[in-house]
Amino acid sequence: MPRQTHASRRKPTLPSAETPVKRKPRAERVTGLRSVETLVHFQCGDCRKWWSIGDAPARNVWYCPWCGRQNRFAAAPERT
Ligand SMILES: [Zn+2]
Repeated sequence: MPRQTHASRRKPTLPSAETPVKRKPRAERVTGLRSVETLVHFQCGDCRKWWSIGDAPARNVWYCPWCGRQNRFAAAPERT
């Protein structure tokens, strides 16, 4: 029986169905999830308070969450 060498005890280096692809070092591994949203800021024309909505639908009429007044906004933001 042949003597087992150090090299023959190593795991196979080629990926196969049984062996997963070599994992990246811990520092490079992606572990989280990231997304991007557009945050739209509105100011009420009555009470002057602000509120914000992420990825707000494209509509021009919004109700103020502070005083309840209906506000109509221009089609394009006044400021960016
Ligand atoms: Zn208001």
